[in-house]
Amino acid sequence: MSDDAARDEGTDEPPDQPADSDGIENDAFTYNGGRIDPGESANIRYGISETYLGDPVRIPVTIVNGEHPGPTVFLSAAAHGDELNGIEVVREVAHDWNHAELHGTLVCLPVMNVPGFLAQERYLPIYDRDLNRSFPGREGSTSARRMAHQIFTNFIEPCDIGIDFHTSTRGRTNMLHVRANMDNSQVSRLAKAFSSNVIIAGEGPSGTLRREATDAGVPTITVEMGEAHRFQRSLIDRALTGVASVLAEFGLHQDSSVHWPGWRTVINDDDEKTWIRADAGGIVDMKHGRGELVREGDVICTITNPFKEEEDIVTVEAPFTGLVVGVLENPVVYPGNPLCHLVGLSPDTRTALEREHTAARSQSELR
Ligand SMILES: [Zn+2]
Repeated sequence: MSDDAARDEGTDEPPDQPADSDGIENDAFTYNGGRIDPGESANIRYGISETYLGDPVRIPVTIVNGEHPGPTVFLSAAAHGDELNGIEVVREVAHDWNHAELHGTLVCLPVMNVPGFLAQERYLPIYDRDLNRSFPGREGSTSARRMAHQIFTNFIEPCDIGIDFHTSTRGRTNMLHVRANMDNSQVSRLAKAFSSNVIIAGEGPSGTLRREATDAGVPTITVEMGEAHRFQRSLIDRALTGVASVLAEFGLHQDSSVHWPGWRTVINDDDEKTWIRADAGGIVDMKHGRGELVREGDVICTITNPFKEEEDIVTVEAPFTGLVVGVLENPVVYPGNPLCHLVGLSPDTRTALEREHTAARSQSELR
């Protein structure tokens, strides 16, 4: 029976708390030791471990609980402590956006790996553990798994969907893309709603937040954007558009609309894609940036020795026409180091991408 029907039948008892115009109110958000009522926001420093000095290791958490009912969404960043772009995305959503008409709840975790963040390192400095291979975590286990457990049980499991922000590993950069298990219909809906041009399909390694949250019934995607140790404004803005689009798709911001990125390609396991690796050590002159289209046979980069001796120049060519999704930034390699992540595109996608590039070029000529 709906609330409206209940009212029609004369249940005229006043509600315990002020209800919204639909007569339905949101639930309180609760975690171990706290509660945020509908219509309230809270900035929390939540203890997940202790330092060698016995002081608490506390992660920043902002809960924005709307007055109106709706889904609970987590936005998380810096599971790898030096991956900073997502921190700014999560902070701006939590603190700069107007959520007066929010339907649902936002759980904002801008810095999950606090010890790694303080050291500006990818891993937890304690034995170099990877927090993003330690979910869902476990009580009574390693330090990393205990931290993961605290985060997971208090702030991930209560959610309906989630977005975990990452960047490329130090020394490389990524074009903004989504990684998602497209076999799961709710994850697929979330991934498409984020409105990136590129989605790389796959369930992800075990222990990652997105895989474990999805397995626990909280459909989650990873967003990869740019490089470590940076705030990259154009990527942050693009990710904010993605978050707004997700909040529109799932009804949290009912006045916003879902964004269409212009073109989209979903890269599956059996699609043409490769990490091109260096076969020579040396200094790299990279000819292409993230997000660029390269054609089969194009020179991707050259590798030279310190003397730039002609006979030792190694030229690396694109094995197929594709999109540069990830690329080296720190221009030095050993044999075997990755140079560039190249993914093939369908003819339709290639045409759409070329049209976009032509439009961008003619716009910049007009300026
Ligand atoms: Zn990462």
